Amino acid sequence: MNISELARKLKVTPKELKEKLPELGFHVGRRAIQIPDEQVEKVIEKWNEMKEKEKKKERLASMVEEKEEEKKKEVKEISLPPAIQVYRLAEKLNLSLNKVMSELIKNGIFTSLNEKIDYEIAAIIAENLGFKVKKQEKEEEIKVTVKEKIKKVIDQEKKEDLIKRPPVVVVCGHVDHGKTSLLDFIRQTKEAAKEKGGITQKIGAYQIEIPYDKEILRSAQNDFATKSRKITFIDTPGHEAFEAMRARGGEAADLAVLVIAADDKVQPQTIEAIKIITKENLPFVVAINKIDKPEADPEKIKKELSEINLVPEEWGGKTICVPVSAKTGQGIDELLETLLLLADLKGEALLANKKGKAVATVIESHLDPGAGPVAAVIVFNGSLKVGNSALIGHSYGKIRMMKNEKGETIKEAFLSQPVQISGLKKLPEVGEILEVIEDQKEFKKKIKELEILSVKERIKLEEKKISKKQEEKLKIILRADTLGSLEAVIRALNKIDEKEVKLEIVKKKVGRPTEKDVVLAHRINAQLINFNVDFSRNVEEMAKDLGVKFSSYDIIYHLIEKVGEEIKALKKPESVEEKIGKLKVLAIFGKNQKGEIVGGRVIEGKIISGLKAKIWREEKIIGEGLIKKLQINKEEVKEVGNGNECGVFFVGDENLKEGDILEFYKKTD
Ligand code: GDP
Repeated sequence: MNISELARKLKVTPKELKEKLPELGFHVGRRAIQIPDEQVEKVIEKWNEMKEKEKKKERLASMVEEKEEEKKKEVKEISLPPAIQVYRLAEKLNLSLNKVMSELIKNGIFTSLNEKIDYEIAAIIAENLGFKVKKQEKEEEIKVTVKEKIKKVIDQEKKEDLIKRPPVVVVCGHVDHGKTSLLDFIRQTKEAAKEKGGITQKIGAYQIEIPYDKEILRSAQNDFATKSRKITFIDTPGHEAFEAMRARGGEAADLAVLVIAADDKVQPQTIEAIKIITKENLPFVVAINKIDKPEADPEKIKKELSEINLVPEEWGGKTICVPVSAKTGQGIDELLETLLLLADLKGEALLANKKGKAVATVIESHLDPGAGPVAAVIVFNGSLKVGNSALIGHSYGKIRMMKNEKGETIKEAFLSQPVQISGLKKLPEVGEILEVIEDQKEFKKKIKELEILSVKERIKLEEKKISKKQEEKLKIILRADTLGSLEAVIRALNKIDEKEVKLEIVKKKVGRPTEKDVVLAHRINAQLINFNVDFSRNVEEMAKDLGVKFSSYDIIYHLIEKVGEEIKALKKPESVEEKIGKLKVLAIFGKNQKGEIVGGRVIEGKIISGLKAKIWREEKIIGEGLIKKLQINKEEVKEVGNGNECGVFFVGDENLKEGDILEFYKKTD
């Protein structure tokens, strides 16, 4: 048949047809005008197949776009810790620092990027920026998500060096719905190199390789030198807790497969898995499994999915469903193809530099009796080599040995490849980032920093415990008529020197207070203080309703006096001293660097070893000290009663003299 005739039939130009023929597996010369008749049918079939795939890709692309749009429109929910650094808040909101800083300034809060702001303030800022905010109980974890950390490294790479890496896929779903069977089937039939008895090691993930004879499977930016595309599957065994799955799978994965058995139904763990997938923002495919079973009813599963807002694509929705059988292998190729198409649609998220700085993330770690701490990691940038010096969270080491998923020793691991490494000094945690440091000087420096850091962190933790007990705060929202008077008041307030109660001006602004100020004051338990401005009726009433304290002044001195009183009111009551007894010093026996040995008589109450004492001389207190040891007739005792004579080893800030009175007391908080 004439090529131009066939082109007409296929509704394309002859030029376009000629260009596509080699990709479809037909090799005709550039100048050929005929195509053998026996091949015509095949060409039409392949052509239609290709068009179908292209359409599917387009469909998926538009679905992904629509989803993105929807996401933008949704009010995003976010949970914030009791305190958060400004730059972390911007990261969490996924907004530029500028935007967050200017919102803070708009609200009269001037802080640096690293400064921590309280939840109440962060919440107001986030709400103003369109977020719905929940309070997170725990302190902000310093841990940034795996993806954020990896992105930071990749952002440093040159754009022209970036290629698309293989997608990392997590398989999840209800127990017994066939996750393990599906992963096993894929692994056994699609293994990169099919060697008998290859599976010797479970390292939590494996990589498969799919030859691409079809153009559709070739990623736009994939490495054209290879004739195949890879997918990394994270293995999450059925018995593993969902929490662990989230840490291991969700955090490191790019895509998800949700397995639902066609002979069962959407189960609680299915819902749980959907929640995790949604939270991690993973594009996913539903694999409706076990369709080989006579009782399988994929339509019922689709109906149930629709009921939970996951309307299947073929019913006009956006959920991609692929019926499969992990037993017969039916539908598995389509599932893998769909995953590759989704990977192509992930855009920049999958870009990496294979020659760049090596970065990986830990998906599993354990202590091996022989090898010590070992970790399974997936490489997200660069390549990992034996001998590399690596930092992993609080752990580090030189990579001594690397094994692939088949237990084979390898020297180098490439993009998206899972690999088990040994040679680490400590056990790293799942989700931590491995970073290769080439420069040995820098590596040593980093190790030192790590060691110092761990000590510092311990100290900080202790300090935090102590300061939590001690610190009280008086929070105020300050308003004044002019910037000049605002500054004058702040200067005067800063002079109030109180160690136990801290004064915190959470907001300072020129102008009358607003309702927002009242809300903020109510939420953070602050007071509204005005200087030279008054309250509008609305604001005043709102403050009364919410029980927010407020006051106005036109003389700085009065304002300062009032704040001083408030601070005093917040102070903890002074500890009470309980008098225990008195001793009259009768003789000084000796002295060394540590203290004095004196003899005396108990003239009131009793005295006990370890008690503190005030030193009285001529009816004045001249110093303080404490009893280190008590003796009666050279025998050590704990206590000496009224009227008795004893020897005292006393440590004080003044030398004692005959006739001094030591007044012993106990302090109670
Ligand atoms: P998991 O708990 O989700 O990992 O489920 P498993 O992979 O352990 O599968 C649970 C049971 O279902 C096993 O007895 C499998 O043999 C069986 N199974 C899994 N997939 C299929 C399938 O596609 N067809 C049939 N007939 N049985 C399957």
